[in-house]
Amino acid sequence: MSKYSPMITQYLEIKDKYKDYIVFYRLGDFYEMFFDDALLASKELELTLTGRDCGTDKKAPMCGVPHHSAEAYIARLIEKGYKVAISEQVSDPKESKGIVKREVVRIVTPGTVTESSMLDESRNNFMASIYKSGNNSGVAFCDITEGTIYASFIEDKDISQKIINEIGKFVPREVILNSEATADDKIIWFLKDRIKASLEPNQDVRYSLENAENDFKTLFSHVNNSEINQSTILAIGGLLDYIKETQISNLKNITTLDIYSGIEFMELDINARRNLEICETMRDKSKKGSLLWVLDKTKTSMGARLLRKWVEKPLINPTHITKRLNLVDEIYQNEQIRDEIIDVLKNITDIERLISKVVYQNASPKDLLSLLGAISHIPTLKNIVKELKSSLARSVYDNLDLLLDVKELVQKTISDEPSLYVRDGGVIRDGFSDDVDYLRDLSKGGKEKLLEIEAREREKTGIKTLKIGYNKVFGYYIEVTKSFIKDVPDYYIRKQTLANQERYIIEELKIHENTVLGAQDKLVKLEQEIYANLLINLASFVNKVQKTASAIATIDVATSFANVAFQNDYIKPIVNVSDKIDIKDGRHPVVELVLKDTTFVPNDTFLNTKSDRVSVITGPNMAGKSTYMRQVALISIMAQIGSFVPCSHAEMGIVDKVFTRVGASDDLATGQSTFMVEMNEVSDVLKNATKKSLVILDEIGRGTSTFDGLSIAKSVVEYINQKIGCKTLFSTHYHELTVLENEQENIKNYNIAVLKNGEDIRFLRKIIRGATDDSYGIEVAKLAGIPTKVITRARNILKSLEDGKENVTFNRESEPQISILEENEALNIIKNIDLNTLTPIEAMNIIYRVQKML
Ligand code: ADP
Repeated sequence: MSKYSPMITQYLEIKDKYKDYIVFYRLGDFYEMFFDDALLASKELELTLTGRDCGTDKKAPMCGVPHHSAEAYIARLIEKGYKVAISEQVSDPKESKGIVKREVVRIVTPGTVTESSMLDESRNNFMASIYKSGNNSGVAFCDITEGTIYASFIEDKDISQKIINEIGKFVPREVILNSEATADDKIIWFLKDRIKASLEPNQDVRYSLENAENDFKTLFSHVNNSEINQSTILAIGGLLDYIKETQISNLKNITTLDIYSGIEFMELDINARRNLEICETMRDKSKKGSLLWVLDKTKTSMGARLLRKWVEKPLINPTHITKRLNLVDEIYQNEQIRDEIIDVLKNITDIERLISKVVYQNASPKDLLSLLGAISHIPTLKNIVKELKSSLARSVYDNLDLLLDVKELVQKTISDEPSLYVRDGGVIRDGFSDDVDYLRDLSKGGKEKLLEIEAREREKTGIKTLKIGYNKVFGYYIEVTKSFIKDVPDYYIRKQTLANQERYIIEELKIHENTVLGAQDKLVKLEQEIYANLLINLASFVNKVQKTASAIATIDVATSFANVAFQNDYIKPIVNVSDKIDIKDGRHPVVELVLKDTTFVPNDTFLNTKSDRVSVITGPNMAGKSTYMRQVALISIMAQIGSFVPCSHAEMGIVDKVFTRVGASDDLATGQSTFMVEMNEVSDVLKNATKKSLVILDEIGRGTSTFDGLSIAKSVVEYINQKIGCKTLFSTHYHELTVLENEQENIKNYNIAVLKNGEDIRFLRKIIRGATDDSYGIEVAKLAGIPTKVITRARNILKSLEDGKENVTFNRESEPQISILEENEALNIIKNIDLNTLTPIEAMNIIYRVQKML
């Protein structure tokens, strides 16, 4: 026998099965938490901690939340990375002897929530599974509110990095991992620190081939497993196992398996995503200021999510890209159609997530009405799409189902103004079921009857304030204020005495109560039953609804692209398999929108893999080098997403991978030295770039001493040019590197023009052929507002240096010899240098000081 009370014993049994979860234990109108869960939740949710007798001499710590506001509390726990198991009373308290039966009916984890209040409607909530084994790995991703599993197989010597790149495309909120993936520090660091995902480590038991194959049979019978790599099958199996557990075995919403290979998409590793600010800015991780922010003018949440997916995964097949571009073009050309589409889309709610709620049996009556509302706009949308001729428009048209069967079912079953919860009744439409109508009549008639009894009793007794009330303990009663007790007749039976009133029952009231209460109870049960059946019936249309949702999303994204192109003056790029990037008057899509007082200066770009392979771009700080290089990368990405691009003409040869590397970045969080990080990243480019890639190197070599940096930068450019042969933009403040144009074929010098006027300079933002003649460091310092005294002194020092009057000489062959004593002091000075902010002129000054000191 347990030492605990029966209720606590039951609680502990449930908790034992759900050790990793905070268990919400339903007790009347509350969800209670006990013991450690109570201690934790009271702290995290700021709830009052109380105690409950539990059958031993100590009280069990307890805290609770009202059941009607539980969702908000659960959301807060999920937000903090906890998982919650909700246990409900599953037997009727009135009918059960002893303790009411309770079961966990729902599990909520960050990656598997379906409640709209806990989801961001404009982005997917992905759950991921990583199965790693040696040099290969299967990865699988699913947003369970949408129902597609995306899975892929990866094999590489640097498997950790490849897995990270794959995760970067989806940014999952929760991840399950096998033990080998769990032991990989690089992956775990990325998941925890970079994307802040919740982790389920060491889940080896979930990765069983047998289970996976069983799931495949039931869910994807049309798929031939023998063509899928075993690691991928295991990754998918593990994912399904976890979803099954959290959704209490309902997998009906998962209808599509998308086995993709990296070859279908442009490879954008996490550094490129971050540096190019594809979906969020580097500084504050906000959408505003990113490429996604510029492109997203979608009107539906389904469209917003699809657009993000497109942006995360640009295509590399020109036919597929051109299909998208042609649809965008049609909508772009026809302003009226564009406006009409936007007008309908505004009214279409998220039918994709609504149908998933139906499948998971947690759609409310209001959700169904919202589904109905959206469906009513589909015919209008379909009519407009009919006008469009492109092949993608045709397939959107074919997939747009009017969903008449869904509409009819909801319409005939659900009343026009249902209550929020089915248990509150009034949900099933009058006339749908004779039984409902009968019970509803009775329970309503009951209220009239009560008023009738009340009126009659008032008259009979002459007590004007007599009234009929109801409470759970005594049922219906007649209430009389103390001052009228003398008028109460004999057949009134006293039930309860309050400070100022007495409460009575009479025989007639008792009989009536039984009929009415019976009817109400029965009615609620019946409505719940009909409603549950309705959800089951509606769930059978999940495929059709998902297809329609995806058609709506596609037209929404294409319209968004057309709209952005129109507003921002973009053009349709020519996308082909040539080796060329030929951009006329290119602009940076984000910078041109955020510039306030100036207009953006457009620039041309011409690159190929022959004569114009590498552009070495020089120019003072702040001239616009980074902006220029990023705009080329962004235009490539935009074109391959299927978007129009910011320029007056663009011929874009397909790029297989885009790399961007920024010298001595601010990646201090990783604990690695900035220079080490920089070199790691460069080495990754050299290993992975192909002739078809686009490489952007922004001030590589900045993180070490001048000569080191210069040498590394030069040899990197030489290697890329000779061994890889890909299109490369390379910015540098090392003038020495402009000699490369003369030394090697295919390398061209460019610089960003500045106008020098006496001691001042003005940025022209125009890229021109040739090397710059100066780094203009002092002029830029002046522009930045450095005090005049400092500027004047700097000019003097510079002049002395140039004239050779100051005692600074560089010896490239041999480092100067330093004696031990002096070495310490010199080292101290060097130790205190902040390499991140050091300019060449400051470096020279320091060398000068050190040398002079010695
Ligand atoms: P660099 O890399 O040469 O130090 P950036 O590319 O960071 O310079 O550019 C500095 C600033 O100059 C940008 O933030 C932007 O405001 C402005 N800028 C850059 N390119 C242009 C342009 N083509 N037209 C107008 N302003 C520009």
